[in-house]
Amino acid sequence: MASPLRLLRQLPVEARPTWAEISLPQVLKNFQAIQRRVGNDCEVMAVVKANAYGHGAVAVSRYLALHGARWFGVATLEEAVELRRVGIRANVVMLGTFFPPQAKSAIEHRIQVTVSSIQHLNALNRASSRKAPAVVHLKFDTGMGRMGFSCEEAEGLARRWARGGWKHLVLQGLCSHLASAEDLECVQNRMQSTKFQRVRAAFETVGIDPPVRHLANSAGGAFHPSLRQDLVRAGIALYGYEPRIEKFRPMGTGPALSLRTRVLHIRPVPRNTWLGYQGTFVTRRRSVVVTLPIGYADGFNRRFSFSNRAPCRTENVQSRPMRAIIRGELAPVIGRVSMDLIFLDVTDVKGVRVGDEVILLGCSGSLAITAADWAAYLGTIPYEVLCGIGSRVYRVYKE
Ligand SMILES: *Cc1c(COP(=O)(O)O)cnc(C)c1O
Repeated sequence: MASPLRLLRQLPVEARPTWAEISLPQVLKNFQAIQRRVGNDCEVMAVVKANAYGHGAVAVSRYLALHGARWFGVATLEEAVELRRVGIRANVVMLGTFFPPQAKSAIEHRIQVTVSSIQHLNALNRASSRKAPAVVHLKFDTGMGRMGFSCEEAEGLARRWARGGWKHLVLQGLCSHLASAEDLECVQNRMQSTKFQRVRAAFETVGIDPPVRHLANSAGGAFHPSLRQDLVRAGIALYGYEPRIEKFRPMGTGPALSLRTRVLHIRPVPRNTWLGYQGTFVTRRRSVVVTLPIGYADGFNRRFSFSNRAPCRTENVQSRPMRAIIRGELAPVIGRVSMDLIFLDVTDVKGVRVGDEVILLGCSGSLAITAADWAAYLGTIPYEVLCGIGSRVYRVYKE
């Protein structure tokens, strides 16, 4: 793998040719599209947790920072520190997990911490000094039910803060998280909004007005103007999978990542050939089958395993194939997905050769296979598909 500062522009010749190609300009276009949607009074936080949803947190963050992004959101301290190590000086906020032993390191690296408990405030305060304060966002549970102070605690907390209860801490933000932002009609949005307004009011009453208030994710930013507040934390839309609702014009984002490999092996086989583990696929005709160097260890989910042998004794096989693009045509993925290899049936594609490029996610001409297609097939969401692209898949950046 490349050092964090030198991004791969092309695949090394000695590499296994299985790579994710990421267009940084497309990520920037998406960032700008979100910024246009949320307007000038609201900022966009680039959420780059989980290796920027598989796109590479270092590359994405550096590129966006270079083009003016001022906020980055991560889940873990390790993710936050990685951004500092590569020279990101903008606001970096840990949205997810904080544990008290991390306090010193968070302060040292000027990582802002989302805090949900008195115990964590105390731990951060103890590790802070006037010269090196912890910078925190107080999180309130307005309805998600996972993290956050309860809203009933807001008044007491605000008063205690105003009295100097945590005198070394800097209050940067008040925040919450929406549970149902993709559902325009859901009453939960209004309930969460009302509760958040009360939290804001509790702090304003005692004269505390932190720089930013935020609770919206991509969908919140796209569809709920009143929930945008000062900052929208955009993840999935940044990577081109914006949530869609009929009523709203799309923001105009597009996928930034394509997943590619090359034909490793090609073989003509007779009719009735069993292929792969458990022989879940049997050729029904003379066929041409290629083997590709990608498998479930790379995020090509094992549930893409396809069987044409009915009834098939083995569990966890599908009755329709996922497809990939080769020589500008769609070809079905057949048989069991194994850890490092899959099969593609190219019987109907002319002229396939070893070394041909295969697009597993991405487009070619008018054909496109997206993370949303994978997600629909697998019964999950594009988030999981993108995060699931394995660490041994090279990331190659196009600028
Ligand atoms: C991951 C995350 C987001 C980003 O959500 P998207 O739906 O991907 O825009 C926003 N806020 C928090 C707290 C998160 O953990």
